[in-house]
Amino acid sequence: MMTEQDAREALVAAMVQMDAGGLNHGTAGNVSLRLGDGFLVSPSGIPAQDLTPDSIVLMRFDGQYDGPVKPSSEWRMHAGILAARQDVNAVVHCHSRFATTLACAHKPIPFLHYMVAMSGGSEIPVAPYATFGTQALADNIVTSLKGRNACLMANHGQIAVAKGLRQALAIAGEVETQAGYYYGTLAIGGPQVLGGDSFDQVVARFQGYGQV
Ligand SMILES: [Zn+2]
Repeated sequence: MMTEQDAREALVAAMVQMDAGGLNHGTAGNVSLRLGDGFLVSPSGIPAQDLTPDSIVLMRFDGQYDGPVKPSSEWRMHAGILAARQDVNAVVHCHSRFATTLACAHKPIPFLHYMVAMSGGSEIPVAPYATFGTQALADNIVTSLKGRNACLMANHGQIAVAKGLRQALAIAGEVETQAGYYYGTLAIGGPQVLGGDSFDQVVARFQGYGQV
């Protein structure tokens, strides 16, 4: 079981990793981890390189928090997802370049490559636009994430969820990779989308993939 300190350190490391890996930049992007009957979330307006475990904010689902550090302005979408999805403990949100490009064009990512299935579906949808930080945006994302691990957010970015933080980061990275492929194919006539029962076959293969 992860201690609160472990979780704080993991969230700082995740923000640094997103910045270093080009998934995020500046003070955009935020991450959260469920902890007890609340959650830990990255703070508002502190760049990744300046974060410390103490700057991570412990919140309750009603928005209350202790201490002097303000939580991310987008804490409502973290709270909304963690409240709605008992299968999810970690949420990663970023404004990665290609995912955000497609999100600004309202283009869901079709099943153009088998790794799209890492998102939990045969398409990565675009959650409808609402102003950042609002309950309306949180609600739109919860709806679009139903039965999935990732979605784009119209005119904003992308969001990925998983049981653990490492997995959520891996999904966000894969969403960005797939967004790059899709963007590339759109420049050369569009993708040849996989059809038929390819999605079910990929999901079946995933069951025995990796080391566990
Ligand atoms: Zn954002």
